[in-house]
Amino acid sequence: MPSAKSLQAASCADDYDPNSLPVEKARQLIRQFLVPLTGTERVSLRAALGRVLGEDVISPLAVPAHDNSAMDGYAVRHADLKPEEETQLRVVGTAFAGAPFRGTVGPGQCVRIMTGAIIPVGADTVVMQEQVQCDGETARIGPGNYKAGQNVRRAGEDLKPGQVVLARGKQLRPAELGLLASLGIGEVVVFRRLRVAFFSTGDELVSIGMPLGEGQIYDSNRYTLYGMLARLGCEVIDMGVVRDDPAALEQAFREAAAMADVVITSGGVSVGEADFTKDLLDKLGEVVFWKIAMKPGRPLAYGKVGGAHFFGLPGNPVSVMVTFYEFVRDALLVLMGRSDLGPLPTFKVRCVTALKKAPGRTEFQRGILTQEPSGEWVVRVTGEQGSGILRSMAEANCFIVLPQDQGPVPAGSLVEVQLMEGLV
Ligand code: AMP
Ligand code: MG
Repeated sequence: MPSAKSLQAASCADDYDPNSLPVEKARQLIRQFLVPLTGTERVSLRAALGRVLGEDVISPLAVPAHDNSAMDGYAVRHADLKPEEETQLRVVGTAFAGAPFRGTVGPGQCVRIMTGAIIPVGADTVVMQEQVQCDGETARIGPGNYKAGQNVRRAGEDLKPGQVVLARGKQLRPAELGLLASLGIGEVVVFRRLRVAFFSTGDELVSIGMPLGEGQIYDSNRYTLYGMLARLGCEVIDMGVVRDDPAALEQAFREAAAMADVVITSGGVSVGEADFTKDLLDKLGEVVFWKIAMKPGRPLAYGKVGGAHFFGLPGNPVSVMVTFYEFVRDALLVLMGRSDLGPLPTFKVRCVTALKKAPGRTEFQRGILTQEPSGEWVVRVTGEQGSGILRSMAEANCFIVLPQDQGPVPAGSLVEVQLMEGLV
């Protein structure tokens, strides 16, 4: 695996300035260093919700197992049907889902059939019941252009035995649980959970439950980080607040790297603080400090501490969330074994408020997406956009993503939005 020294080299070697690294470039650089974890475990189907498949799942069955009816109606021999005039057939039995008709449908005969019931031997086509009049033993089928095999679901048309149903690296959502259940599969092999340790740095931080002294603030980053990590399905290790003290930080980094796959910190990477953290991290691992051309969330550190991946996020509460969603989330999903990742979707909507924006950085403004009485979806910004205003995140349901070169945005312009629902 390349080292963070080569990461540094990579980020300096080309035209990109590490003091103003474009968002997409930073994402790509980080990706080069990510090797998915390898440990797996076998879990029951319900416990597998949200987990990532650790091996391909092969279908043990054909789905459906038999040719069966897609409709309630009559199973007939297509050759018996007269397109120009009424066809009369003798009803020789009934086929229910789970209780097949055991006989054979001969010429001039038909079987009443329910949705999901096996097509009886001799029949090849189902006529829906709305096109049939049945008086006792005789079914009278109106003239029509009936296709051979109509309303029949073929054995194996969904899945054939031996076929890969779900590939390793796929996250299991409700649809996948249902699909596995339809094959009678009760347990699956999933990647083990990614262990992520995190702590906050700052002498001003107080944990909730303690009184606030003058100039002190409650540590909120540990809670947003907890929430974001827990939603991704990580095993979270909350290491609390660590003072801005080299010895305390060194110990915290050592402990974190020893027990986790990934270490995340908040605070301590901005100008003035970074030099101190930098020296420490140079000693413990290989870490590169970037200034990302984004707002909020400019400073970001990435590298390895011991054997663990390390993300040093800025201290400001909104910056923590934005950098997590835009860099860390994607990286953690790769480490978790996901192979079904693509870029997060964004789409264009009209912005009803004017947006302040200067060219030079990609901005992730907090937006509220609502539907107009006309049916059109529009977005407005959540007031002040300071990176310490966590309320803006709580009010928002999307990011308004403004590209690096964009200038001020007049009200009524089309802007790119990224839904927060898809991020969690
Ligand atoms: P720093 O990056 O350490 O200079 O922090 C930048 C700003 O974020 C400062 O105003 C800090 O007080 C604030 N901050 C840092 N860590 C936290 C935290 N865990 N919770 C809330 N605010 C924080
Ligand atoms: Mg600090």
